[in-house]
Amino acid sequence: MTDFTMQTDADGVAVITWDVAEKSMNVMTRDSMLVLNDLIDTALADEAIKGIVITSGKDSFAGGMDLNVLARIREENGDDPAAGLFEFAMNGHKMLRKIERAGMDPKTNKGGKPIAAALPGTALGIGLELPLACHRIFAADRPGAKIGLPEILVGLFPGAGGTTRLVRKMGAMAASPLLLEGKLNDPQKAKAAGVVDEVVPAEDLLDAAKAWVLQATDADIVKPWDQKGYKMPGGAPYHPAGFMTFVGASAMVNGKTKGVYPAAKALLSAVYEGALVPFDTALKIEARWFTHVLMNPSSSAMIRSLFINKEALEKGANRPAVDDQTVKQVGVIGAGMMGAGIALVSAVAGIKVVLIDAKQDAADKGKAYSADYMDKGIARKKATPENKTAVLDRITATTDYAALEGCDLIVEAVFEDVAIKAEVTRKVQAVCPDAIFATNTSTLPITELAKASTDPTNFIGIHFFSPVEKMMLVEIIKGADTGERAVAKALDFTRQIRKTPIVVNDERFFFANRCIIPYINEGIRMVKEGVAPALIENAAKLVGMPLGPLQLADETSIDLGVKIAKATKAALGAAYDDSTDEVLFGLFDAGRLGRKSNGGFYAYDDKGKRQGFWDGLAEKYPHAAEQPDLITVQHRLLFVQALEAVRALEEGVLEDIREGDVGAILGWGFAPWSGGPFSWLDIIGTPYAAERCAQLAADHGDRFAPPALLRDMADKAQGFYRRFASAAEAA
Ligand code: NAD
Repeated sequence: MTDFTMQTDADGVAVITWDVAEKSMNVMTRDSMLVLNDLIDTALADEAIKGIVITSGKDSFAGGMDLNVLARIREENGDDPAAGLFEFAMNGHKMLRKIERAGMDPKTNKGGKPIAAALPGTALGIGLELPLACHRIFAADRPGAKIGLPEILVGLFPGAGGTTRLVRKMGAMAASPLLLEGKLNDPQKAKAAGVVDEVVPAEDLLDAAKAWVLQATDADIVKPWDQKGYKMPGGAPYHPAGFMTFVGASAMVNGKTKGVYPAAKALLSAVYEGALVPFDTALKIEARWFTHVLMNPSSSAMIRSLFINKEALEKGANRPAVDDQTVKQVGVIGAGMMGAGIALVSAVAGIKVVLIDAKQDAADKGKAYSADYMDKGIARKKATPENKTAVLDRITATTDYAALEGCDLIVEAVFEDVAIKAEVTRKVQAVCPDAIFATNTSTLPITELAKASTDPTNFIGIHFFSPVEKMMLVEIIKGADTGERAVAKALDFTRQIRKTPIVVNDERFFFANRCIIPYINEGIRMVKEGVAPALIENAAKLVGMPLGPLQLADETSIDLGVKIAKATKAALGAAYDDSTDEVLFGLFDAGRLGRKSNGGFYAYDDKGKRQGFWDGLAEKYPHAAEQPDLITVQHRLLFVQALEAVRALEEGVLEDIREGDVGAILGWGFAPWSGGPFSWLDIIGTPYAAERCAQLAADHGDRFAPPALLRDMADKAQGFYRRFASAAEAA
């Protein structure tokens, strides 16, 4: 069966139905584009056909383009990938333009066939760009449906005419949240925003679209930009109002992205340049910028990590072949900050939760967190009072361990203390000896904690990030004896709560914290050296880190840093590097515990708003007369993380570089434009990386010394994805 089929009814309306077999959502491939193109040709040529409705056989319209296609085109076109990509983009434009012009006379704009899009639900990416080329868009009133152009979130921009059409349809200002932020709307909001034309009850969708097609006049189907005297809503760039928009947009985009995301810049250029020329030329400009973005290694790395590999991990790329471990009832022990969040995301996912704390009021407080969260959702019209009741009904807050009976997964989130965790493990196992026991510890070795368990094969780490409901990554840690069923259980649970998992082995700080801590420490070390804190923080942001290391230290709290430093020192003994202790312990002794105490590296006002650096910092650590250049500071901050990722791979903590890259971006926001630490090393090239690290090691210390793996790869001029990805994908 082909992805698109066509049937013509007695009234002469051809219904083209998109229905990709064996997929829950339609995605566009090269083959399906050819099929659609042929059907359009047939329908336009057939005199018995009065008009066309394009719809889907599923309860959604489409999830977008199959992004693997783009990588394949690049490969197929050998020495001249840009030519292949440009041709592909232009072929897409030709087909969509054919739909838009629908056989009408180019001079009189008469004689075309009306073409409506009927969207039963979610319509994303090319799943909206195709409707935008049609003459009228009908959407079914399905509140959960999402309509929009999320390309920018994976390092692209809409390149199938979506950019050019949306800006001409609604104006640059109104289109900017949709294009620049990838904002998705439900059908009602999409109508209010002017993206779709009509929202109708789902059961009336096809009839409404057909009825419109049958009564549409010549004038109804000519797009405004194909009519004489067309003016862009809100004004083109040299119109006074348009001028304000375009100048403002450029400043806003560069402010937000710090100039590191090529897609955002290219999108702006496509919009600006496209606005100055006729429509067909604008499409050509869009295709050129789209090709430009696809040729940038940042975009392919972002697509690979944030789309292809993220999805592969979510679908269980590294799941052991064990029977279904879907969680029916989860026990969460410790109803503090983390436990409350874990209970919430589980209950929202439809899982029954037993939430236990030492005191009833603490357990109740943990449950109240879910109530507050749902209340906020109701206020923002994202949830209903019925949803709230259903979520709260799923959570039993108690101090009674006997209530855990029937739980097939336990997530422990009590204080970070070996003895307390051991006691909890024993108490839980007395009630449910066969449940998989997961600890949410952030620093304690899993193998060590598993000693309290009667069956270490059923013991595992499931490390959430704070705040649980926002952070997408879950780090699953295998202890020395963790069995396959425990890994499968943790992965199935992660899938149920719709998070992205990585599976790592049990070494100090696992993977994420292992890389974040050196980042923070490098920032602190530079303060001690007299590097201006503003240079440190801005260098981090200008290379795409969401927070500078000093701000991150304040956010995660100085006392936590002190606690980790002390524990590391106790574990490492003489091998411990104490060069950041003076600054960190100094802040701690001064009672500056970070944002939560309204004072840390930064000063804060009464409302907790950052006010710039604390005066005392410059007094204690005066700025050195000679400051390092920006690139050196950026390299120190990025390499110190990336080298830790390489060591984690070398030591077998990471088993799959895809997990390293996806985990780094979702876990702590490692420069997303780069696609993650391994992708970054591939972009700059391992030979350069090794050489630069050797230089940094000579200037700043052995922590930058290139690990043997990197040196070996540099000697062979080998990339990480070339050396490791195929093995990972075959696994
Ligand atoms: P928290 O102090 O907010 O909550 C801990 C809760 O456990 C408290 O409500 C406490 O009353 C309860 N508790 C203590 N002993 C208990 C016992 N014997 N039986 C039942 N309940 C008991 O701490 P948190 O920040 O939620 O951290 C919990 C765990 O998660 C720790 O292991 C921590 O390292 C880990 N973790 C924390 C973060 C974070 O950002 N806070 C991130 C990842 C992991």
